[in-house]
Amino acid sequence: MKLLEGKVAIVTGASRGIGKGIVHKLAEHGADVGFTYISSEDKANALRKELETYGGKVKAYKSDASSHDAADELITTVLEDFGTIDILVNNVGITRDGLLMRMSEENFDAVIETNLKSVFNTTKAIQKTFLKQRSGSIINITSVVGIKGNAGQSNYAASKAGVIGFTKSIALELGSRSIRCNAVAPGFIFTEMTEELDEKLIKEWNDGIPMKRSGTTEDVANLVLFLASDLSTYITGQVINVDGGMLT
Ligand code: NAP
Repeated sequence: MKLLEGKVAIVTGASRGIGKGIVHKLAEHGADVGFTYISSEDKANALRKELETYGGKVKAYKSDASSHDAADELITTVLEDFGTIDILVNNVGITRDGLLMRMSEENFDAVIETNLKSVFNTTKAIQKTFLKQRSGSIINITSVVGIKGNAGQSNYAASKAGVIGFTKSIALELGSRSIRCNAVAPGFIFTEMTEELDEKLIKEWNDGIPMKRSGTTEDVANLVLFLASDLSTYITGQVINVDGGMLT
């Protein structure tokens, strides 16, 4: 059964990693998909071709999520290209790790602007459309680090905790118009980025997870699919972990 037939989704930061897994899942379930990237033009073009094989409309946009004006322009362009938007997935995220003692103002600001302000930018830009159609599902990708904190990631943890507060507030503001806003909190997810980590370190992390394995991009994408679909029409303001029990 295709869960998203006739729906249009926009996913930020989908040229690789979790975002790529999400757009595959949404397109496989019948959605027309627009997605963004910032630098990986070749990967984005290759992904667009992969997604087109599912049969829906697909467009890739180079757009800096941390820029308020760029987000406005993005949403306007997506609306022109697709006619409507039903699902917004705010997935963009970066890390600039370091202990507070060594963390520069530049690295603090970059993470807050890319991970948190980006969510404000796209949500604000899409709000009028969702209000007019009295529907819409917003899914924000946060992290277990935003719930628990992590030494060496104060900027990242603050940005992801901010996403959780933003998600709950928007759920309260827009719930009466049937617009839903939820957050997904992945734990340790195996991506191209984590592939480069030391095998011993990965084993140590996996041993600390109740399910004894890292998650896959598909584990995250399956939850996003559920939250994007009409199977979750009475669910809003929630933070759902995809972490193999890590925070239990
Ligand atoms: P990733 O592999 O590094 O991919 C990040 C994506 O964001 C790429 O498509 C990148 O585009 C894009 N991007 C970065 N800065 C951007 C900007 N300013 N404007 C537009 N696009 C931008 O990351 P990931 O591991 O898949 O993580 C995805 C999300 O899950 C993030 O929010 C992350 O914090 C969260 N998360 C990940 C994990 C994990 O274990 N991987 C765990 C918890 C939460 P380019 O390719 O063009 O650079």
